[in-house]
Amino acid sequence: MPADPNGPCARDGCTFLPLLGFVGDRWLVPTNYCSDACADFMWLERTLATAPTTAETPKALEAMEELRKLLDGRQEPYDIGPLVRD
Ligand SMILES: [Zn+2]
Repeated sequence: MPADPNGPCARDGCTFLPLLGFVGDRWLVPTNYCSDACADFMWLERTLATAPTTAETPKALEAMEELRKLLDGRQEPYDIGPLVRD
């Protein structure tokens, strides 16, 4: 994880600047991502990487790839909202 506060978003391929401080109704600390969408994407990727491989795994990886393309195609960080609702 980059510690440089002036570096770009920590998600590979994302060039937006990270958010500072308060995001929606929760804090992201430290703030490494430009948006909830990137933070959620990384969370999903980590979750998938540590989950046991099943028959559904290839489909999930494919969905993640589609999602990555969507995120890479944004004009603004908030073109895509949070991916995970809690
Ligand atoms: Zn980002």
